[in-house]
Parts: sequence; structure tokens; C-alpha cells
Amino acid sequence: MPLHLSKAILFLHSKPKPPILMANLSSKSNLTALTPPPKARLRGVVFDMDGTLTVPAIDFPAMYRAVLGDDEYVRIKAESPSGIDILHQIENWSPDKQRKAYETISDFERQGLDRLQIMPGAAELCSFLDSKSIRRGLITRNVSAAVDLFHERFGITFSPALSREFRPCKPDPAPLLHICAAWDVQPNEVMMVGDSLKDDVSCGKRAGAYACLLDEEGRYDSPKYANVDHKPDFKVSSLTEVHTVLETCFHLAP
Ligand SMILES: [Mg+2]
Repeated sequence: MPLHLSKAILFLHSKPKPPILMANLSSKSNLTALTPPPKARLRGVVFDMDGTLTVPAIDFPAMYRAVLGDDEYVRIKAESPSGIDILHQIENWSPDKQRKAYETISDFERQGLDRLQIMPGAAELCSFLDSKSIRRGLITRNVSAAVDLFHERFGITFSPALSREFRPCKPDPAPLLHICAAWDVQPNEVMMVGDSLKDDVSCGKRAGAYACLLDEEGRYDSPKYANVDHKPDFKVSSLTEVHTVLETCFHLAP
């Protein structure tokens, strides 16, 4: 299991900032791990899209404020330390109010598509996964048209690629379990990679998979995230560091 690897191994591979192994770096495990246990086998990686495979281009706080109104936004934000689930917030609204909310969300998403850029390191990471015959999937709360545009524009295809037309959306584990079933692999042979603690890490951990949080700016270092229900197994600041996690912590041979 990767959780028993010593901190030293990860730091030896560090490029300027090493990925952080989030769990099980207790002194007890370090003292007793004289012979490293076998690495877990990894057979698939599932990615979030916005902010993970693509450079963040959607102003989510502005979107939430526009949908909820200032007062509701402030109130719900205070109650939701790991982030706002906007699709959940609007699911019981009246049809008319919900339609307007989706129009607002779509406007923000369209503006994001205009600025779509692939995340540095994404193409290289996908090539590496291909070289190891490790499957690549995608789960996004964005619409299928955005996934289609991503596939067309960057020429990298993920399969299955589940958008918000697949319900329930993450953070529910259903989309990840669906992908595991389609691949005929166990969830503990898969890693979910994403930039959202509340959506990607929760989805991954609830499904029984490994979870890797992409935190480019270190925003999840804040104490307000210390007591969230689901914590990532790994925390990285770039997709290049995901590559390091894969090589260091998992058995990758087909
Ligand atoms: Mg994201």
C-alpha cells in the first residue's frame, strides 16, 4: 500500500516542491517499515476536467453568487467549509427558478469554454499512462458539450467521460463506480485526480478509490479544511507531481 512508503522516498523524487503524502506518515509506520510492503496495483486514473485537465477558467464564486444572490451565497458558504454544491442547492427549486439558475450556470461555463486551455503536464501525464496501459477516465459536473470540445480541441480522449447528464453527479461515488464497472476493475485499483476537495476527493474516497488533490495555490492548506470528512491520499501542486506519485507509490506494470 502506498500509505506505508517513507517520506524520504517522496522527497528524493521531489522537483522543486514534492507531492505530499497525506496519510499514514506517522512515526510508528516509518519506524516499522524496514521492508517496504508491496505497492498497490493501479489500473486506472479518473480525472476531473475544469481546473484539473484544463486551466481554471470558470469563476465559480462569481457563478454561485449570481445563482444564489449575495445573502444566500454568504450564508451557504459559511455553512459549507469544503465548498458549495451548486447543483445540489438548486435541485429542489421551482422549475422556473431552476431554469434561470441553469441559464446562469451555462453562461459562466460558455465563457469558460472560450478561454479553454489544457493544463501544463496533462498531455505528458496521459502519454505516460498510455505507455503503462493504464486506463484514463473523466468525471465532470460540466455538460457533455464541454467534454466534446475538450476532446476535439486537445486530441486526448478519455473513456468513459461522464458529464453532469450522468446522475447522480460527484461528489456521489456513482460515476466513479460506473467507470470501475465499465473497466472491470476494483475501486481500490483506481485513483481519482481533481482540484476539488468537496467533489473529486469525496467522490474518490466514497467509492473506495485513491484520491489525489491538485492544489496549485495551496488554498487547501488553510485550517478551515482540517476537519473535512474525506481527506486525499496525496496532495500535489501540479500534474507533473501526479506522475511522481504514480511512479513512486504504485505498481504500474500491466
Ligand atoms: Mg475542478
